Amino acid sequence: MARATIGPAGADTPSAGHHHQNKENGDRALGLAGVALGEVLARAGDPAEYERWAEQTRTAGYCARPVRLAGGVDQVETTTGEVHQTYTTEREPDGVLLKACGTRRAARCQPCAEVYRRDAFQLVAAGLRGGKGMPASVAEHPCLFVTFTAPSFGAVHSHREQGGRVRACHPRSPGAPCPHGRAAGCRRRHSADDPEVGAPLCVDCFDYQAAVLWNATVPELWRRTTIYLRRALGRLAGLSRAELDRQVRLSYIKVAEYQRRGLVHYHAIVRLDGRSPGQAGAVVPPPPGFTVELLAAAVRATAARVTAPLPAGGPVQAAPWGGQLDIRVIDAAELSAEQVAGYVAKYATKATESFGTALAWPIRGTAQLEALDVPAHVARLVRTCWQLGGRADLAELKLRRFAHMLGYRGHWSTKSRRYSTTMRDLRAARRAWITVRRHGPGAQLDRDGRPLPPEGTVTIGSWEYAGSGYTTLGDAWLASSLAAQTREQRRIAREELAGDA
Ligand SMILES: [Zn+2]
Ligand SMILES: [Zn+2]
Ligand SMILES: [Zn+2]
Repeated sequence: MARATIGPAGADTPSAGHHHQNKENGDRALGLAGVALGEVLARAGDPAEYERWAEQTRTAGYCARPVRLAGGVDQVETTTGEVHQTYTTEREPDGVLLKACGTRRAARCQPCAEVYRRDAFQLVAAGLRGGKGMPASVAEHPCLFVTFTAPSFGAVHSHREQGGRVRACHPRSPGAPCPHGRAAGCRRRHSADDPEVGAPLCVDCFDYQAAVLWNATVPELWRRTTIYLRRALGRLAGLSRAELDRQVRLSYIKVAEYQRRGLVHYHAIVRLDGRSPGQAGAVVPPPPGFTVELLAAAVRATAARVTAPLPAGGPVQAAPWGGQLDIRVIDAAELSAEQVAGYVAKYATKATESFGTALAWPIRGTAQLEALDVPAHVARLVRTCWQLGGRADLAELKLRRFAHMLGYRGHWSTKSRRYSTTMRDLRAARRAWITVRRHGPGAQLDRDGRPLPPEGTVTIGSWEYAGSGYTTLGDAWLASSLAAQTREQRRIAREELAGDA
């Protein structure tokens, strides 16, 4: 990635934390071996019913864990009260409708996560280059891509690269061992995918409690950061709070990334907008003087000073950012909107995915804690969350409920209102496109892109949750096969298009 660093150089770049991809997370094709062939044959037995079932899985985007709904939709005439049934699942295969789970997390459902990733790309890109209701002029606003890091909670094995060469892990400190008798340095040259990367040099020196408390507090630290950033900007520009607010607006979006050491990083796009008198919501360029350098200085001053408090009585009292801060200017020549959008969207589908699929769901009990299929260091972070989560003075941090997130209970992403379009609007646009294709260009749509009922009627849906996921392994296998087939067809179509060009 091209870099235009104007922050402290040599900071841990965002690419450091995600080399370890868990290949099993990907489109793991279910093998037919072990799946009851009888289930597949039963589903495929009635061609008409199979056709309808396959159409449902397609409409649900080949979701791996679709929600099964039973019920239907009625139209009621408002003047007469007459009821017309317009849809019922009674005639559907198994009497249910399959609806996509819609998760963003790749460990839960790959096809839905892919849809989410594409929407996230559109959302982020629109805030950088315009489109989707954003003016193209946003591309000219001062805009930074900033990586906020966690402090150190103890030395960890690291992959270090300099000028294309892999460097020693911790070549310094050759002297005395740590109080636990372990070597204080490490001269090995770890490859990026070395499973030991991220693990502490000494597990007894590493402060597990402080680490998970920091993860638990980083959403509050971010909230404060956005507030301090405005203050810092005002101070640097020599303006009062009120005057600053009259002239400019800070727009941002941030995403969380888990580092190999189990701590959360935030990658943020911070954009400076002007305000247009009389047009409260308009996104316009800021007045002269509000430069990208000024914005960067405000970010540096903020990151160095802001802290978030932790519950009194706990082992740590405040959470600051780590000393490493990476600031890059987003502009077409150095770091393009597409690069940043692609980068951010990738994190949209990931949380603890880099540690395997074992942490896709909340931990339900202590038995599970002992058999976690994740690196030992990560398992210890999870157990630390569980232990601290049992303490009354730390109850507000909900550490048990978020043990599978290593204590982090924030959203993968937060954005300010004017940064860009919304996921809701992107989904509505997609739905509207489908609705219009089905019902013709004259179709009346609601805000979410769904067809409005005819004049003089209201639509009443009554749905019952019948369960999640496919009821048989045979169905799950068929759905994943259909998904794979469709991906392949799309790939061939793309290649043919490219060949024609
Ligand atoms: Zn899904
Ligand atoms: Zn090492
Ligand atoms: Zn030690």
